[in-house]
Amino acid sequence: MLVNMKQMLNKAFKQKYAVAFFNAVNIEMARAVIETAEKLNCPVIIGTAQILLPVTELKYVADYLIPMAKNAKVDVCVHYDHGLTFDRCIEALDLGFTSIMYDCSTLSYEENVKQVSEMVRICHERNATVEGELGHVGDNAGKGKLSRPEDFYTDPDMAYDYVTRTKVDALAVAVGNAHGDYKFPPKLDFDRIDTIAKKTGVPLVLHGGSGLSDDDFKIAISKGVCKVNIFTDLDKAGMRGIQKAVSEGMDTVTKMIPYEIDEMKKTVEEKIRIFGTR
Ligand SMILES: [Zn+2]
Repeated sequence: MLVNMKQMLNKAFKQKYAVAFFNAVNIEMARAVIETAEKLNCPVIIGTAQILLPVTELKYVADYLIPMAKNAKVDVCVHYDHGLTFDRCIEALDLGFTSIMYDCSTLSYEENVKQVSEMVRICHERNATVEGELGHVGDNAGKGKLSRPEDFYTDPDMAYDYVTRTKVDALAVAVGNAHGDYKFPPKLDFDRIDTIAKKTGVPLVLHGGSGLSDDDFKIAISKGVCKVNIFTDLDKAGMRGIQKAVSEGMDTVTKMIPYEIDEMKKTVEEKIRIFGTR
């Protein structure tokens, strides 16, 4: 069933587990995610991000994801991750996405509050949820790498003010996490997660979940993280499937599909089990 994030994450917040979010830039990824959630009988969040749109346009993603979510035997939220422009977020909403992350984390604090508040107003009128980001989660490599990530950690008092004013349904936090492959094991600031969750009372979102240890996840979730974003691990699992197919002599794209889906399903199941999703 197609749902928004609200009930899903509020229940997770109370019962101290997390729901996984996976980007799905093709149907194989979407099948791996939704079929695994159905097998485990638990909710899941699926979608795409603005940075991935050059690979598969928003409209095409909506064309397969929305019907797949509607037909799923479990609750599926279709989420647009890291929307960077107002227009693209509204486009996602118009296409039927039930949740929008409007990422204004690189703007000034007041501008972030202003822009995201407006997005919340529009989305709530249409029964969609909104995730905001305060502080800034950088990347592990490339242009988005921060030289001093700790300067961009989410401030708990500011988070309280942000959530109160914007009325976001979930908050992405910067607590030592980063996007992509970690070069060194990250050190998450669990006390900060705990303080932010207690002050704001909203479900927190941990971006950059690929490469974190099982203990990192478990502690972060016990402190108030209710949504964990995973993409790199899923993406790599699909590639492992392709490599396996090639090594076993498969010589067409069609023959590779079951291998891809199988490998991705293993990753999805492993994460969902670690997150304790119910
Ligand atoms: Zn992210």
